[in-house]
Amino acid sequence: MSLDPTQPRRDAPPDRVLVTGGAGFIGSHLVDALLARWPHARITVIDDLSTGSMANLAGALRAAPERVRLIQSDLIEALPGLAGEEPFDRLYHLAAAVGVQRVVDDPIGCIETNVEATAALLRYAVAQGGPPVLLASSSEVYGKSPASPFREDDDCVYGPTTAPRWSYAASKAIDEYLALAHHRTSRLPVVIVRFFNTVGPRQVGDYGMVLPRFIQAAMENRSLTVFGDGSQTRCFCDVRDIVPAVIDLLEAGADFQSPACGQVFNLGADRPISIDDLARLVIAQLGSSSPLEHIPFERAMGTGFEDLTQRRPDLQRVRSAIDFEPRISLKQTVQDIADSLRLKPASGGVGA
Ligand code: NAD
Repeated sequence: MSLDPTQPRRDAPPDRVLVTGGAGFIGSHLVDALLARWPHARITVIDDLSTGSMANLAGALRAAPERVRLIQSDLIEALPGLAGEEPFDRLYHLAAAVGVQRVVDDPIGCIETNVEATAALLRYAVAQGGPPVLLASSSEVYGKSPASPFREDDDCVYGPTTAPRWSYAASKAIDEYLALAHHRTSRLPVVIVRFFNTVGPRQVGDYGMVLPRFIQAAMENRSLTVFGDGSQTRCFCDVRDIVPAVIDLLEAGADFQSPACGQVFNLGADRPISIDDLARLVIAQLGSSSPLEHIPFERAMGTGFEDLTQRRPDLQRVRSAIDFEPRISLKQTVQDIADSLRLKPASGGVGA
């Protein structure tokens, strides 16, 4: 099925918006931002709550109960039930099994979720007449490319298929190939966003995410467990800087003729910090007495695990498409995460 490339510009504010994975960390902040951006839009969230939670949507449901609908379901199972409804004006596809640690723990479930759910969502979008789709991808797609910073058209470099670690990157790469193929062959308006390390309130440490895990440990004056020697660097960006850019990017690419349509964008901050320095920042900011403890990657993630020494985005492309400048400091993010964790029961988990 090929959509009409001469479709009119989508200038009217969206009325019906779908957010898959909208009860998750980034998805729930996106729901909040969408409600604020488009005061008349009604938002449908599909989420199976495998890693997301009702608590993440509590603010949105309280503030605008008539404008937010949660379909608590696996995405593939939920889509047929929407077929008889009016088409959505925008689709934000964030539902995924997230992170390398989850892939190491449950490789089949993660690969199937990431590939099959995305394939189903894209087929649904085409059948609905082609509402613009934003696909959440990951900086992991670059694999172990030695390039720095990563540019969107750089080669992706993976290890062997016998190392499960690369299957998360490969599953996200397949998602990108699929979305771009639908863009070319079905003329579906798609925008792909490769998130770099995104952090902020509502992120949980249970699935290996380093910052909430460090903060939880620091608040309890326990050791902050750093994998490897701690010299590896990452760029952390607050989710509250990320979600307005996600909305802006899909608006920039919503028209099939626009240069942003069918493009891949890096999205994140470009100021690297080592994991050791991140741990020290958390300890200083929270006035903690926690020590650092270094453990080998292999002990935490299994034999043969390869970590990346650095991961930094080139932001030229995103800045040529939208106005994007992260504003929230890492110290502020750390403080806000700590404040939000104080309101919740302690969570466990190790890993960087
Ligand atoms: P998250 O785990 O909080 O969000 C994913 C959401 O998808 C969860 O709410 C989960 O319950 C839901 N989900 C998973 N499988 C589902 C299924 N089959 N059906 C319905 N819902 C399902 O993670 P996040 O950090 O908010 O990630 C959101 C997106 O951003 C993901 O696509 C992820 O790959 C991507 N991403 C995030 C980061 C980051 O730093 N947080 C980095 C790179 C990419």
